Order: sequence, then C-alpha cells, then structure tokens
Amino acid sequence: MNTTAATSDGTLQRDQSFAKNLFFGEILEENLFPYPAMRERDRELLGSMVDAIDDFLADKHADFKQWDREAHQPEEFIQGLRDMGLFGLIIPEQYGGLELSNAAYARVLCQTSGHDSSTSLTIGAHSSIGMKGLLLFGNDDQKTRYLPSLASGAMIAAFCLTESGAGSDAASVRAKAVKNDDGSWTLSGEKIWITNGGIAQLYTVFARTDTPEGKMTAFVVEAAWPGVSHGPHEDKMGIRASSTTTVAFADVRVPAENVLGEVGKGFKVAMAILNNGRTGLGGGAVGGMKALIKLSTRQAKERRQFGRAIAEFGLVREKIAQMTVDCFAAESAVWMVAHYIDSGCVDASVEAAISKVFASDAIQRAAHEATQIAAGNGFMREFPYEQITRDARILSIFEGTNEILRLYIALSGLKDVGANLKEISSSIDDIFNNPIKGFGVLGEYARRRAAEATGFGTAKILRELHPDLRIAAATYEQFVVELSKSADALLREHGKTIADFQYQQKRIADLAIDMFVGLCTLSRADSLVRANHPAAETAVAICEIFTHQAHRRMSRNIRALTHNEDEQVDKLAGKVLEVETYPFDVI
Ligand SMILES: Cc1cc2nc3c(=O)[nH]c(=O)nc-3n(C[C@H](O)[C@H](O)[C@H](O)COP(=O)(O)OP(=O)(O)OC[C@H]3O[C@@H](n4cnc5c(N)ncnc54)[C@H](O)[C@@H]3O)c2cc1C
Repeated sequence: MNTTAATSDGTLQRDQSFAKNLFFGEILEENLFPYPAMRERDRELLGSMVDAIDDFLADKHADFKQWDREAHQPEEFIQGLRDMGLFGLIIPEQYGGLELSNAAYARVLCQTSGHDSSTSLTIGAHSSIGMKGLLLFGNDDQKTRYLPSLASGAMIAAFCLTESGAGSDAASVRAKAVKNDDGSWTLSGEKIWITNGGIAQLYTVFARTDTPEGKMTAFVVEAAWPGVSHGPHEDKMGIRASSTTTVAFADVRVPAENVLGEVGKGFKVAMAILNNGRTGLGGGAVGGMKALIKLSTRQAKERRQFGRAIAEFGLVREKIAQMTVDCFAAESAVWMVAHYIDSGCVDASVEAAISKVFASDAIQRAAHEATQIAAGNGFMREFPYEQITRDARILSIFEGTNEILRLYIALSGLKDVGANLKEISSSIDDIFNNPIKGFGVLGEYARRRAAEATGFGTAKILRELHPDLRIAAATYEQFVVELSKSADALLREHGKTIADFQYQQKRIADLAIDMFVGLCTLSRADSLVRANHPAAETAVAICEIFTHQAHRRMSRNIRALTHNEDEQVDKLAGKVLEVETYPFDVI
C-alpha cells in the first residue's frame, strides 16, 4: 500500500454528479470511495430470494427454449412469478411490496437473467418503467389505489411512450388527451412495441395535452376501461416470450385523478422513469454475462482439439479473460449507479446512461465471443448461445438507444461546462493571462480552469491505494484533465453548434464512459483489497487490464478529436445515401 497519501472518508455529496464533474477535470473522491456495500436488510432478503429464484427457474430451461420458439409465456408461469413476489420487488412494504433498494432489485434481475431474459423483462418492464412513475410521482390516493395490486401482481404494469412516429424523438408523440368540462380527459392514440402490452392491467401513458403548462402529460390508465385495447404478440428477433404489443386508446375517458405528476410535465416524468430504471437493465446484462462466462469456461475445458482442451489456447483464454473484465467493469458501474439512486443523489442520469451503454455493449461482445468459443455448437439452436445473442440485442435499442444515450452523456457534460464558460467570458476578458486577478471574481469552474492553465489543480486521488491500483489511478488522473481540456476546446471552437458534431460527441461520451466505468472498477478493487477479500488480487488484476485497455481507447479518442477523417466519412455517407446502393462491382 502507498502510505504517503491521505485517505478520504467517503462522505457522499448528494447534490453533485460524479460524471458531470469529470468534464470539469474533477474526480469527486467522496462519491467514489468507499465502494458501496449491499445494505444489511437487502442482503438478508436477497440471500433467500436468490436461492428461491434458482430453484424456480433452473429446471425450466427447456420450457424457456420452447416459449422462445412459440413466442409466449404461459399464464401458469406468470402466476409462479407472482407467487414469488417478483412483481412487488421495489414497492414499499406498506403497500405489500418487498421494498428492495435499486441495488438489490438490480441483483434480482441479474439472477433471473442468468436463466431467461424474457422472464427478466416481464418483471423488469413492470417495475423499472411500468409502475415506477407511481413510485416517483404518484400521490397518496394513486399509490393506495394501485400499489397493493401491483405488488401482488394482480395488476401488471406497462410503460406506453413509443409511437410509430415517435421513437428516439419521444417528445413528438401524437397520442393526445383533451380535457373535458368535468376535469376528466379523453385519450386517443396508438402506442407500439409496448413490453407487457398484452398482459398488463395498468398502463403509464404519455400523451400530448398542449396546455399552457407544457406539451405532454402522463396518465395512469386501466386496461379494463372502455376504449383500451392491445394488438397481437409481436414476432421478434429476441426476448420472444416476453409480451410486446401495440396498445390503442380510442376516446378513453381518464378521470382527473389519474393524471400522473403535473399536467404538462409528462416529458419530465418519462425521462425520470427511464433514468431511474436503467439499473434494472444493467443488472440484467450482468446476469447474462455471468451465465455466458459459466457456459464458456465449461465448453473451453471440455472441448478438445489438436490433442488439448481448447482452454489451453491463447486465443480462447483471451476471450474468457475479456468477458470477465467486461463483466466486472459493468457490474462495478451498475451497482455504483444503484447506490447513487438509493442514496438520494439528485442527478445520476449521466452515470445511469453510462452504465446502460457499457453493460449493453459488453453483453453483446460477450455473447459474440461465447458463441465463437462454442463455434459450431454455438451456432446450433440446441445450445443456448444463439438465444442469448438474440435476446441481448435489444439492450442497446430500448430504454434509449445507445446512440441517443452517448449523445446525452456528451451533451449533458458539455452543457454544464458551456454554462461555466459563459461565466468566464462575462466575468473577465482574459482570465488565462491574468489568473490571479480572476480568482476573486470567478465561479468554481473558472477557478479550476484557470488553475489548470497555470499548471496547478490537476486531479489527484488522495486515497491510499494498492500500488497496482495507484498506477491505474494515474491514468484516470491524467485523462480526466484531458477530458476537461477537450470539452473546453470543443466548446470554444463550436459553441452551441457542438450539438451538430456527433462524431466529436461520441468521442467525448466514450471518454466519459471509460473514465466512469474504470473509476468504479478501481473503487471496487480497492474495497476488496481493504476487506482482504479472497479474490482481491484478481480484482486488482482486472482493474489493471481494464485501465490499460481504456488508456489505449482514451488516447485514440483524444487524438481523434483533432486528427480525424470526419469530413470524408460524412461525405462518403452522403454519396452512398444519395445513390441508395453500394456503388461498385467487379464485373
Ligand atoms: C422489444 C421492444 C420492446 C420495447 N418496449 C417498449 C416499452 O415498453 N415502452 C415504450 O414506450 N417503448 C418500448 N420500445 C420502444 C423503444 O424504446 C424504441 O424502439 C427506441 O426508443 C428507439 O426508437 P425507434 O425504434 O423508433 O428508433 P429510431 O428513433 O427511429 O432510431 C433509429 C436509429 O437512428 C438513431 N437515431 C435516432 N435519432 C438520432 C439522433 N438524433 N442522432 C443520432 N442517431 C439517432 C437511433 O439510435 C437508431 O440507431 C420497445 C422496443 C422494442 C424493440
């Protein structure tokens, strides 16, 4: 251990976003160390639940395969999920739920995903998005009316935002609700691709209301009300057993008391639900990766070629190691984000987006590599790889596509930096030539930026760290300054029009992703070392590997901000889009 550095006491700063601070060149140690432990109550509940879930799901793998082919989930199976309390995971005890924290909830979805993704989705769409709005924005009356039935699973919930013309551009929904004289609303429109659409009794619906208070409003709508209907089960590429349908509203009368949150603030409600729900998806992705690692290690040891187990070959071992690094990194980020949300941090939306993007990309890499290790067997439907690969594909598409989330990560960080840049220009003209004068009059960002320009104030992690972790920490200390400089430079070059430079935004987002995920991995390895955990040395090694890889990616991204072929790439895309075909042939 390096004993020269001071130790931070880890007092969480709830009003700060750790990820947004990275854009200012700051590693907020208080929000990084110590790595959060599962709360005692959750740990006790999880202990028995995890075993019960395994007992219930482990012997159903043949059924899952069949339900995937047939694209349905039998009612008796859903009843089994109800009986296990899996629809009441995050609902407060006073309404009959288990009141698990976000962290424990993500752990449950991790467990179910190790068996079957469609099962996770039925439970997850209900809790993470279907009825989450009631928890976050519901008033006492709404909670009393609905949460007990939602906790028991007598009512299953679904989240109805997407429409044929409103996917990523969720604010452009056309479903509309018109206010009646008696205060009720008449709702009409059609939603598409709604998870649990065909089995839900309660829908959280977003519709255009065009009131002076705002354009969109959220409503809680019962499936049994006149005018509510759903379409057939969609025939999908993956998660085929999970119910996905259209949901239509034909002049549905919605009582005034079923407005969720404030009239006109529906977009805010939708975004809060999605931001809050992303740890469920992340937990599911981690569960899938753990299952893939189990399958791949067994396969690599059992399969013999050239007189040896294929596990002895470097190119197979490399895949196993990479899957483990990715899984540990994703897990470290997902549970850090869950901790932020559980601790009441006011803004963890960028961290949540980072964990979702990283975990969903990571499971797809893992599914690809696991299939490659199993090779011919991996391609056969008799084995689970192809289903896991198909099931994992959705994770980078729904709850915000990974493209939209990367843009969100970059622009959210840049926005705050931009706001502070304005402060610089309005406070003093040439702060970088006269930093001392500026210290008295400038805000926090300008002080930091000025300090950096004069060679002081580089980010340092003060906590005592294992020597190998200290080396890893130096990488993040270096690149967090690079990130802040790059954010600053991009904003000075493009100003507000940075929003038009998506290639650059992607690089900035990937820098933030590598940094946040890497630092979560560092924090977790540090906690395991301190606890003398038997696998602490493995965690340190994983952190080192991740950091070396992240170092290479971050260096590339920094360099590509100024040395790239963006213009040529854009031109080429334009040419191909114009002719709508590949423009060459060899004959
Ligand atoms: C199986 C399944 C279940 C679903 N469950 C639900 C549910 O329960 N509730 C619900 O409301 N919705 C649900 N959805 C909808 C899902 O959230 C949307 O599919 C998703 O938001 C993307 O919208 P889209 O498919 O219309 O893609 P589009 O928005 O049309 O995007 C197409 C492509 O363009 C990219 N793109 C779009 N805009 C931009 C931009 N500004 N910059 C750069 N790239 C851009 C996207 O990243 C994507 O690659 C589900 C979808 C599926 C497939």
